[in-house]
Amino acid sequence: MAIPENTQEIAEILALATEENFPVVPRGAGTATTGAPLAHEGGLVLSLLRLNRILEINTEDLVAVVEPGVFNGAFKKEVEARGLFYPPDPASYEFSTLGGNIATCAGGPKGLKYGVTKDYVLGLEVVLAGGEVIFCGRRTMKGVVGYDLVHLFTGSEGTLGIITKIILKLLPRPKASATLAAYFRSVEEAAEGFLELINEGLLPAAAELLDEVTLAAVSGLLEQELPPEARALVLFEFDGGPGQVKEDLSLAEGALSKLALKVESAREGAAKERLWQARRQISPALKKLYPAKVADDVVLPRRLVPRFLREAKELAEARKITVACFGHLGDGNIHVNLLFDPKETAREEVESLRREILEKVLSASGTISGEHGIGLTKKGYLPQELAPPLLELQKALKKVFDPQGILNPGKIFP
Ligand SMILES: Cc1cc2nc3c(=O)[nH]c(=O)nc-3n(C[C@H](O)[C@H](O)[C@H](O)COP(=O)(O)OP(=O)(O)OC[C@H]3O[C@@H](n4cnc5c(N)ncnc54)[C@H](O)[C@@H]3O)c2cc1C
Repeated sequence: MAIPENTQEIAEILALATEENFPVVPRGAGTATTGAPLAHEGGLVLSLLRLNRILEINTEDLVAVVEPGVFNGAFKKEVEARGLFYPPDPASYEFSTLGGNIATCAGGPKGLKYGVTKDYVLGLEVVLAGGEVIFCGRRTMKGVVGYDLVHLFTGSEGTLGIITKIILKLLPRPKASATLAAYFRSVEEAAEGFLELINEGLLPAAAELLDEVTLAAVSGLLEQELPPEARALVLFEFDGGPGQVKEDLSLAEGALSKLALKVESAREGAAKERLWQARRQISPALKKLYPAKVADDVVLPRRLVPRFLREAKELAEARKITVACFGHLGDGNIHVNLLFDPKETAREEVESLRREILEKVLSASGTISGEHGIGLTKKGYLPQELAPPLLELQKALKKVFDPQGILNPGKIFP
């Protein structure tokens, strides 16, 4: 592993890698769920953790300049201390890096109202495979000069270049926010409940779903009395001016009253934080209860989410495998976790179920990954989503940036 300190050292490493023809695998905090930062074919792991400076937070331009090894959570704190706001909030935000977030185009609950990482990346300094350093994009809010390479590098999982400096867009910090916890009899009713809010003209900052299995795993952390018939929970977040938040909460409570068993709002810091902490603890909590899991993060058009949730459960029940569905109900990005004990259930059986579920997603005009990316674990499914000419075009692009195939080889493409 190399742990360089600056762009120049990274450029020298890549020039050497090209000359000697060895693979280089960039790595932030290593939290990717797809095996993307693993050097599974050998080569040099290039840690970006020493490039960890916040170089500028400009409160008038509303931009920040950072190095890739800065942790999202630490950055958020600095930005908020200046009355500003950086919305992208993967559940891993406390322990994942901004470079990793950009290389995976990470998303989170606030994606519903504020979009995902790519919506905040204005410019990037990147070291190319041969060691050349380029700057693409800009530090202005707009700009259409040349091809949009910033958004090609964003989400490229370290396969096109090493990100060494980042210019991010910031927003003013919302003055108020409140969380609303709504319990439902089923995931379908929970998803319908969310659509009621949309029909009411409301756009929450977040709408996070916890199905029955997930709810059971984190119920102890919620510190709330659950209605006995509750089989699903949605955490809604509203933000804006204090008057707006109050009005939205009251409209939402009205819209949810038809379907929800119980609706409880939390405005005060600790109560709110407890609910969101439970949301962020879902993955570790499921891991504690089940020896193995196969996790996907599929996206569906919102109106088809209730049907998909029912179908996923039926398919899993038919194979006697437990499925936990949770996540970003608001933007249709559902985390589908197949939970099993490898001593009792064959991996092939789980993969067959996974294939069936992904086929349902694609036949509903959905996509197989909304935020985690492809990495190693999903590359076998890529041809199901990308038609052959598009797949060939993407492979040709990779060759332009990395003719020798030394950057994070074996990832994304089957
Ligand atoms: C408990 C838990 C919850 C999570 N929740 C979410 C969530 O809500 N939303 C979400 O989107 N993801 C989530 N993730 C996945 C993961 O945290 C994100 O993908 C995150 O963006 C990865 O950041 P990282 O710093 O750990 O990068 P790594 O895992 O180290 O790397 C990720 C990819 O980026 C590449 N890379 C890293 N740094 C650079 C760089 N400077 N230049 C070029 N390539 C680079 C790597 O090669 C790799 O392909 C979660 C993970 C865990 C463990």
